[in-house]
Amino acid sequence: MIDFLRPDHYVRTVTGITPEWLRSRRIEALILDLDNTLTGWRDRDVPRAVREWMNAVQASGVRLLVLTNCRSIRRVREVEKRLGIPAIGWASKPRRRGFIRALEALACPPDRVAVVGDQTYTDILGARRAGLCSILVDRLTPNEFVLNRIGRCAQMWAIRRMGLVPREELTAEPLDGQNK
Ligand SMILES: [Mg+2]
Repeated sequence: MIDFLRPDHYVRTVTGITPEWLRSRRIEALILDLDNTLTGWRDRDVPRAVREWMNAVQASGVRLLVLTNCRSIRRVREVEKRLGIPAIGWASKPRRRGFIRALEALACPPDRVAVVGDQTYTDILGARRAGLCSILVDRLTPNEFVLNRIGRCAQMWAIRRMGLVPREELTAEPLDGQNK
């Protein structure tokens, strides 16, 4: 079971995913989680560093799409408008259907797409079930939904058990250690 929770890569925040690394991996699109990946939990504001990162990644030709379990259509539409990228809500991650919708919207081959998120039990497990590359990030803020806090404890246990350590940056340089 634990192997299903193992991310392909682990980096501290989305801003550590460099355009050079994406190019070296021939990744053309990112499916991004929202809460605690791009924004704080239920937050409407995207930190400036994250916005700048989004601009840089898009400028390098990588397309972005938000896939969130958030059930508020209003918030999802607001995010879409604010960020200027498509957003799909009510995704029911780790179920596959949201990822399939995202792939259809991106019109991109699955091997050219990576999923980015802060939760192993939804983002990483879902990416794996959908056959997509996964990148785990540390949560942006400590605030989260009460049930997620329970999942977070299990996640922290699993991460320790797998011996994963976040990298500050994913670069195109050859790497040693687990996050190849
Ligand atoms: Mg999240």
